[in-house]
Amino acid sequence: MNRIPHFVDGSRTTMIEAGGDGRHGEVFDPATGQVAATVGFASAAQVDAVVQVAARAARDWRDVSLSRRANVLFAFREIINARRDELAAAITAEHGKVLADAAGEVQRGLEVVEYACGIPTLLTGNFSENVSTEVDSYSLRQPLGVVAVISPFNFPAMVPLWFVPIAVACGNAVVVKPSEKDPSAAVLLAQWFTEAGLPPGVCNVVHGDREAVDALLDHPGVRAVSFVGSTPVARHVYTRGTAAGKRVQALGGAKNHMVVLPDADLDLAADAAVNAGFGSAGERCMAISALVAVEPVGDDLVARIVERLGRIRTGDGRRPGCDMGPLITAAHRDRVAGYVAAGAADGAKIVVDGRGVPVDGDDAGFWLGPTLLDQVTPQMSVYTDEIFGPVLSVLRVDSYDAALELVNANPYGNGTAIFTNDGGAARRFQHEVEVGMVGINVPIPVPMAYYSFGGWKASLFGDSHAHGRDGVHFFTRGKVVTSRWLDPRHGGVNLGFPTQT
Ligand code: NAD
Repeated sequence: MNRIPHFVDGSRTTMIEAGGDGRHGEVFDPATGQVAATVGFASAAQVDAVVQVAARAARDWRDVSLSRRANVLFAFREIINARRDELAAAITAEHGKVLADAAGEVQRGLEVVEYACGIPTLLTGNFSENVSTEVDSYSLRQPLGVVAVISPFNFPAMVPLWFVPIAVACGNAVVVKPSEKDPSAAVLLAQWFTEAGLPPGVCNVVHGDREAVDALLDHPGVRAVSFVGSTPVARHVYTRGTAAGKRVQALGGAKNHMVVLPDADLDLAADAAVNAGFGSAGERCMAISALVAVEPVGDDLVARIVERLGRIRTGDGRRPGCDMGPLITAAHRDRVAGYVAAGAADGAKIVVDGRGVPVDGDDAGFWLGPTLLDQVTPQMSVYTDEIFGPVLSVLRVDSYDAALELVNANPYGNGTAIFTNDGGAARRFQHEVEVGMVGINVPIPVPMAYYSFGGWKASLFGDSHAHGRDGVHFFTRGKVVTSRWLDPRHGGVNLGFPTQT
């Protein structure tokens, strides 16, 4: 049985004898339902050893010139670019998403690497001459030291790439704790970073579960934590990490709404709803889960979506022609199917039922086909809970105001979209909606690397969003220097508080 290595101190063969106490997880191929590998879970003592490796590396790395850091990032970009198919294949083998979707994930991660290549410009400070007579002030941004990145299963390459390139470019050392469900992509990336010239110990990968996460949260040598995952765990990470004095950004779950106004282009809206609802089998934090039809468009919109769902082929993501892969585990598939049953019991109408869908793949895979529920109401669990699967719920309302109220009453605030041909209505929506990322006739409004990614309310704990300017800010500390180089004319004692004179 293949064992997935930890990656510490620039060595792919681990210095951690994976899961010294024997605790380990099984990594499935979700398209076959078979165990493909095992991964050892690090204990708190093993996490401590990795943090110490990172701390040693951080001491030298922070003094490496900006041009050399940028050169490493450029080389890293070239490696990912050349091996993007290998990375996509590793993602599909453990996550299950179709290869084209995995390649898209790699591309979005690569864009953050490209953003981080600009680190010499991103770290420029300010300088003010003569803030007082012959006194100058300037600002610096300096690295924090060791930072931790804890990532979810659904983007095993992109989420680490949201953080690691910027953290490293800013002069930090990183300990990545990927999801134990699909840990290989993070190991590949760390290996390639080292090949690109990153000194050993600056980027490390340690595997594990709650014990490893809590060890990182409690460790005094870890200065900041970037977390992405479900809301209950994000809340735990934020509370425990900040209690230990760390800077924490914890991105949580989501329940994303797409509002369709009566004047929208319904073909565009139906295409978007299918792409955003069922891409990656709905296992995206920006997936559309609630389709809010402002009447009278409901019947027409549902009919157009049903017609499109008939063309979606569910199957093994490695097989040509498959549009949608399996879910990540059997337990998750059963949980999502349970929501479909609960929705029907609560009175929702199952328009398309993905349970028992014919698949182009192994019978033992964790399958659930696209499912469309109509006449869903806000009290049903299929609406109140994050489902994280290929289930799209249609809610019908009679006005723009009712749609806005529904979106804003939801505890999550990650992404949303409005479909309309009325620029005034779209502008009003972007102004009034309490959500961090808004699409106008765009279903999955994931910001580019040079903007920042993050939701509001229960979708983000902390102040900083991921990548872009927020990322650079998160991984550095500000310092302001006030300096006076003495002129021969200086002199005199002044006990007063300095003022601008
Ligand atoms: P998860 O919360 O189960 O796991 C995330 C990470 O936390 C993993 O590394 C896991 O090992 C660790 N973990 C799990 N339970 C823990 C615990 N009790 N204590 C400490 N650590 C723990 O999330 P997941 O199922 O891997 O990913 C799906 C979730 O992530 C969804 O809720 C999705 O919305 C969310 N997500 C959010 C964003 C965003 O940007 N807001 C992006 C991607 C995914």
